[in-house]
Order: sequence, then structure tokens, then C-alpha cells
Amino acid sequence: MSIAESIAKIRASLSEEVRLIAVSKQVPTEAMREAYKAGIRDFGESRIQETETKQKLLEDLPDITWHLIGHLQTNKAQKALQLFQWIHSVDSLKLAQRLDRLAAELNVTPQVCLQVKLTDDPHKHGFTQPQLLEELPALIECHHLSIQGLMAIPPLGLNEGETLTLFENASHLAQDIRQQWPQLPLRELSMGMSGDYHLAVKAGSTMVRLGTILFGERGA
Ligand SMILES: *Cc1c(COP(=O)(O)O)cnc(C)c1O
Repeated sequence: MSIAESIAKIRASLSEEVRLIAVSKQVPTEAMREAYKAGIRDFGESRIQETETKQKLLEDLPDITWHLIGHLQTNKAQKALQLFQWIHSVDSLKLAQRLDRLAAELNVTPQVCLQVKLTDDPHKHGFTQPQLLEELPALIECHHLSIQGLMAIPPLGLNEGETLTLFENASHLAQDIRQQWPQLPLRELSMGMSGDYHLAVKAGSTMVRLGTILFGERGA
């Protein structure tokens, strides 16, 4: 199947409210141009350097929205703000406060998602549920960040039922937060990759991040 055909097929299977982010990490810019021609305007990347290179090569396509979906080290926060309109992977208060300070200096207001950890694996990035609820007042004080929603990545190796449950937990957490902090828009749920987006959408995802299913295996 061509990239355009894959995009058309996925798009047709998703409700209009779900934003399709084409994850183009390790994908050459020629393939990104094909996706662009097929209507994609949202691209997801996980590395700063790679994104910088690609943005130069795609300078003639001005209306792309760039989404950072990978873990961001605080020392690259400034660069990230220069390259991305969306940062899905805000995974600590410290990073949020750093981004907030830099965003004020750069006079930008990035859209961000707060990445939540769906299990308490210490090796995974993200806020645990109790941590997020405790730190939300401080996060809300980051006035130069436009907090749009939650982002979640389930761990590998779960069955479909377990994965669905984790996505539903994230969805319920977002509902709880909306009730407690109505001033926060928190409309978005950035959940779902090629292997599990059908489950994420069932649980209320509003942004799916799809790579392999659109572009084929990375590095293949
Ligand atoms: C790579 C990546 C994706 C896309 O994964 P696919 O399985 O190729 O669809 C989505 N989200 C994040 C955070 C990723 O790192």
C-alpha cells in the first residue's frame, strides 16, 4: 500500500474529531512529502537534531504543525520551543517550569500535554497519577504553557484488555482533572500508536500518533 493509501484508509476509520499525527521519526523527507500531499499537516518527531534537519529540507511546506513526542532533556528545552508548536512529552514539573521560563523569554506559548505514567515502572517517564494531582497547582502556574491534555504510552507486553484499561484510566484521570480544575481546557488525550490506536480511540483518544502503519517499518 502507498503512504497515501494508508493515510486514506486510517483517516476513514477515525472519527473527524481525532487528530492524526504522522510520526515521521527516522522517515525520510520524501516520504513526509507524500504524506503532506495526502493531507497530513501534523508530524510527530522524537529528536531535536533530526527535526532541525528536516525542517530545513521542508521549508517550502510552511503550514506543518510539529509535535515533539519523545522525552525532552531540560538542556534541549530552548531548541524544542524553537522547533515545535506542540510538546506531548512534558513529563515532570521541573521540565514544565523550565519550558515556561524559556517560553516567556522567547515570547511563545507552546501547546503541551502532560505525560502520565500508566504503571509505576520507575524506568518510564511521566507523572504518576498522585504526583500529577499534587503538582497540578504548580503546573497551572506555568502561564506560558498552554496545557491542552494528557499523553500516555502503555508499556509493551500487555494484552488488549489490559491496554484498554490503562487508556481508560488516563481518560478518567483527565475527567477528574477537568472537574477539579475547570479553568484548564484539557481537551486532548494523546494516546494510541500503530499497534493500539483502535483501543486508545475506544477510550476517548483525541490525538493518535501513528508511524509504522503509515510509513512502514522504520529503517526498513
Ligand atoms: C515512535 C512513537 C510513536 C509511533 O509508533 P508506531 O508504533 O510506529 O506507530 C508514537 N508515539 C511515540 C511516543 C513514539 O515514540
